[in-house]
Amino acid sequence: MDNKNILISGAGIAGTTLAFWLKKFGFNPTIIENSPALREGGHAIDFMGAGYAVAEKMKIISALKAVDINFSKLVFVDSNDKEIGSMNYQKIKNFLNGRAFTLFRSDLAKVIYQNIDKAVEIIFGDTITKIDQNEQEISVSFKNGTTRNFDLLVGADGLHSNVRKLVFGNELQFEKYYGYYTSSFTIDNFSIGNNAFSMYNVPYKQVAVFSKSGNSTTTFFIFASPEKLSYQHHDIERQKQILKSEFENCGWKCPELLSKIDSTTDFYFDYVSQIKMDNWYKGRVVLVGDAGYCPSLLSGKGSTLAMVGAYILAGELKQANGDYKTAFERYEILFKPFMEKKQKSAQSFAKSFVPKSNFGIWLRNKLFKLMSSSVFSKLFINQFKDSELKLKEY
Ligand SMILES: Cc1cc2nc3c(=O)[nH]c(=O)nc-3n(C[C@H](O)[C@H](O)[C@H](O)COP(=O)(O)OP(=O)(O)OC[C@H]3O[C@@H](n4cnc5c(N)ncnc54)[C@H](O)[C@@H]3O)c2cc1C
Repeated sequence: MDNKNILISGAGIAGTTLAFWLKKFGFNPTIIENSPALREGGHAIDFMGAGYAVAEKMKIISALKAVDINFSKLVFVDSNDKEIGSMNYQKIKNFLNGRAFTLFRSDLAKVIYQNIDKAVEIIFGDTITKIDQNEQEISVSFKNGTTRNFDLLVGADGLHSNVRKLVFGNELQFEKYYGYYTSSFTIDNFSIGNNAFSMYNVPYKQVAVFSKSGNSTTTFFIFASPEKLSYQHHDIERQKQILKSEFENCGWKCPELLSKIDSTTDFYFDYVSQIKMDNWYKGRVVLVGDAGYCPSLLSGKGSTLAMVGAYILAGELKQANGDYKTAFERYEILFKPFMEKKQKSAQSFAKSFVPKSNFGIWLRNKLFKLMSSSVFSKLFINQFKDSELKLKEY
């Protein structure tokens, strides 16, 4: 096997899944992650389709089942917390014959991580500052001042990928903004306690909460903003301020949720964008997950498709005996047309993602109620099945 020493930037869903498969296929992956530890937090994920199939191959289904949220229904509430609509989620999942979970992103990340911890070198709290590649190898300099040589480098460092920026150029040339911001964080000593997701809307804004056991509640905020807002990506305080000003006068439980924002440890805030690139590789560098093909929150599939891309990339490297030129080209041929379709279908939800009027909210509630019926459930679930992608055995 050629090109065995592979550096992966980012220990998110894509990076850890890739490390799992590379290790299994006889490569020697190393991960560099800029956070001091595995990042917690994030949204709830519908885990089904091709991502479920990859998890089966990784033999992590029972571990995922143990953290399945397994909630009963999605409840729409008014400002007095009165139920004004609902969707029976279990009924929808039944159409997938049990091959579906709802997971918190951080639980998925932890399960994958547990399967590579100790087997793979992971450098936390550092990042790449310089990349030089030639025909033989790739030389990578780190923020801590050291330089190391590897055979290949994979950017799995998310929507704002550092590797993409250093090798392919400015993010803006690849990014398509869809007019929304999203935020998620966990708070303690607050519970809605009904094993359901509660969702509250005012025009252009939406907040959902789910209470786990032990009085801990995860929040999910989305708001529309036709223009991108001005703030530094790492300025968490400014992001919290923006979220507060968007939601503090919206009623329902928003003031209480926001009053706990300063004690959260897993605050996440970002805009909703897709990444569209002509090529996912350049020489010895390749991108996977959001770094290369972020489908955005609109797709509901960012995490599962990150896992699928990682599986295909590792598998093609194995099949080509480490010949990266062949493997990267095959990875694109097999997966890029499928990803482009998924991005396009997600894009079509952009306008209606968050209702923009009270009538729109009413209509959305009616439609979701219909989805609990057999015909509409099947239609809804079909988009998550990924049946057009046949995963190879490597
Ligand atoms: C903590 C967290 C919470 C999230 N919450 C949401 C959410 O609520 N809603 C939503 O739509 N999406 C969210 N996402 C994004 C979502 O997880 C991804 O869209 C999806 O899982 C695809 O995963 P990925 O591995 O490609 O990217 P990500 O999950 O974003 O993982 C990228 C990883 O790379 C690391 N990284 C970033 N920059 C560098 C660097 N310079 N050097 C080294 N490492 C770097 C990050 O810390 C992260 O661990 C969240 C991501 C994270 C990390």
